[in-house]
Amino acid sequence: MPLKIIVCGGGIGGLTVAGYLRAEHNVTVLERGNLDFTINDYGLSVVSNAFNLLQKAGIKSENLDSVVMTHLWMRSSNNDEIRTVHFDTRKERGGAPSMMTRRATLQSELLRFATSPEFPGAPAEIIQGAQVTRVDALEGKVWTEDGRSFEGDLIIGADGINSAARAAVLGHDTPLNGVKLHDLLCFITRVPIEIIRGESSLEYLANPSSQAGLVSFHLPPDSKSPKRLLIYHTSSHELQVLGYTSEQEFAQVFDTKKTAIIKDIPAKRVVDEFSTDFSKNLVDLFNHNQIDAWRIRDIDTCDTWYRGKCVLIGDAAHAVTPHAGHGCNLTIEDAEALAYLLKDAKPSDDLKPILEKFTSLRRERARFVLRRSREMGNIQSEEDKKLEPISPAEFSRVMHSYQGVEHALKKETSTSAA
Ligand SMILES: Cc1cc2nc3c(=O)[nH]c(=O)nc-3n(C[C@H](O)[C@H](O)[C@H](O)COP(=O)(O)OP(=O)(O)OC[C@H]3O[C@@H](n4cnc5c(N)ncnc54)[C@H](O)[C@@H]3O)c2cc1C
Repeated sequence: MPLKIIVCGGGIGGLTVAGYLRAEHNVTVLERGNLDFTINDYGLSVVSNAFNLLQKAGIKSENLDSVVMTHLWMRSSNNDEIRTVHFDTRKERGGAPSMMTRRATLQSELLRFATSPEFPGAPAEIIQGAQVTRVDALEGKVWTEDGRSFEGDLIIGADGINSAARAAVLGHDTPLNGVKLHDLLCFITRVPIEIIRGESSLEYLANPSSQAGLVSFHLPPDSKSPKRLLIYHTSSHELQVLGYTSEQEFAQVFDTKKTAIIKDIPAKRVVDEFSTDFSKNLVDLFNHNQIDAWRIRDIDTCDTWYRGKCVLIGDAAHAVTPHAGHGCNLTIEDAEALAYLLKDAKPSDDLKPILEKFTSLRRERARFVLRRSREMGNIQSEEDKKLEPISPAEFSRVMHSYQGVEHALKKETSTSAA
């Protein structure tokens, strides 16, 4: 007898977990939006270990309009080379390439995973325009803004950083539902690759079919400024440009409009922000397309990820800032792990041991990414500042060596036997 599972949120985590779970269980996804994948869109990397999991499940790289990541470039604010790391993710890491794509494209492919008859099990039911306003974790019941209610043997909170499900797991008295601000925002814009063709100082980014990746432009190490520019490929024909700085006058707009994204920032405002510190040909990239300002937030990784019949995955349990580029990867790993652990579960089962196992398998990894992300953004807590920083090599080793939950369980068994 399959479980009846209600997933709150049809983002990356919600659709991935629905795709995995539908093989054994009946799944309904409640998504507040209309699955218009162009809203809140941005470029992201799906690193090899997470992409390996998706590929094994039937996700196709050819549906992602993606490029394979081959390089990481560290450059000065004048675009002078500091360090270039060249790797072939297809061979060296995780068993699959690291892909650079757009969130919208990935979500659209994950919707296929959750709903197409090509995959095992009954398609998940996706209910759009269903904003979850309350979750009763003990009863396994969910209410939506339009007055509907849904009951399940299990509720999965995959509703992102502002999770309504997290409030049910942690308690409603957690200030700001646990969300932390860091007086940091990033301006995001996208530019067609043609713009940089012929620009000799950016030529290394012009042919993503042969080399693609992310460039990070740094101010001198003694600079106290939070400013930082990044450029990375999102497809074979597009780059994303991202500029970090402090919130300044935007803090009030985020607060009064109760939003984390301010659309259509005037290019002059952004160019002025960065032109004193970064070379003109980099800053000029903000002059071509719409620029949005994103408030940078995270949460301290939750101690407990479940209560009663409700469990959290993805940003709902462990939202991190984008600095290390691993939030989505953790989310995909969560989805694979939870679905695997629930494979044989029946409605009459006590799910507590499964949810406890899930939390204990995933929590330290999420904390590790949070720590590294805050180090990279220079927004560590006083506690974390006392710890030895995580080196890029160590971070890469830990992240890329993950091979899915079955492997993690075997590793755990062999460690405890030793
Ligand atoms: C600018 C930027 C760049 C990033 N780059 C990377 C990267 O390179 N690599 C990487 O691994 N990660 C990256 N991330 C992080 C990554 O996008 C997130 O970690 C990931 O999307 C988390 O997935 P999720 O499903 O948990 O949450 P989300 O993707 O936020 O999805 C939550 C879903 O729930 C819905 N929802 C929310 N509230 C409700 C409600 N009350 N009721 C119903 N539905 C609801 C939302 O509409 C949404 O569809 C980046 C993030 C940002 C902002």
